[in-house]
Amino acid sequence: MSGRLEGTVAVVTGASSGIGEATAMALAAAGAAVAVAARRRDRLDGLVERIVESGGRAFAIETDVTVEAQAAQMVALTVQEFGRLDTLVNNAGVMLLGPVVDAPTEEWRRMVNLNLLGLLYCTHAALPHLIEAASKEPRSVADVVNVSSVAGRVARLGNGVYSATKFGVVAFSESLRQEVTTRHVRVTIVEPGAVTTELASHLRPEILEQMAQNFGGVEMLRSEDIAEEVVHAVTRPRHVSVNEVLVRPTEQER
Ligand code: NDP
Repeated sequence: MSGRLEGTVAVVTGASSGIGEATAMALAAAGAAVAVAARRRDRLDGLVERIVESGGRAFAIETDVTVEAQAAQMVALTVQEFGRLDTLVNNAGVMLLGPVVDAPTEEWRRMVNLNLLGLLYCTHAALPHLIEAASKEPRSVADVVNVSSVAGRVARLGNGVYSATKFGVVAFSESLRQEVTTRHVRVTIVEPGAVTTELASHLRPEILEQMAQNFGGVEMLRSEDIAEEVVHAVTRPRHVSVNEVLVRPTEQER
């Protein structure tokens, strides 16, 4: 297997399903050695098997990114296994929609801990290695890809706290971009619209029903559609930084 990421190493969080899984497959197909991280070990092992069967290199790391020490260990194990780190894809996330009034505030903590703090911990641990990789062959550039959402651009009724976390990802990403861009670490925000994944499976039944009404009949994006955008961003020439990618299903209005 050869490709434009030959000789580079990526770590993808939330790789046990959906967008993260498809992104890990796509990065491996483009030639990167890929560390895949999430909590469900069996899913990660299955993914590693598929990547290896198709000629790629992959390594599973059972990780809860909301625990800072585990996020740091994920990065350390990646570097230990593959020798460097060129690409961090911060994809792990949870979407617990619903009104603010009478909300179970435990859902807010889960979203803030994962969508924001988990992403911050992984980024913090990875940055020294990314900066180092950006000064080295084969590419002399490194990448952080942060998966936000259309909800990180537009707040809607019923998505207040999810939106707050994803707006937070956008703000953090832009500030980080300004901090590290002259060291050739690029920061890309990916903002998907509705994608068919397990994401909605954590919603309360009444919220799920509401969502089904909002998106009924819309031909949703596939995880592979988003994976293609990630690969596109990280395979640009060194002088090209794709800062933001907003992708909706064609039939999604808002
Ligand atoms: P999935 O539910 O399929 O994937 C979420 C992933 O996050 C899983 O692999 C899950 O693995 C992982 N995860 C959850 N908690 C943790 C944790 N504490 N530590 C490490 N990993 C964790 O959903 P998607 O693929 O759709 O979601 C991926 C990203 O895309 C999210 O950030 C989401 O907000 C964003 N997004 C999705 C959209 C959609 O319509 N699907 C639209 C816009 C944005 P495990 O449970 O094994 O840990």
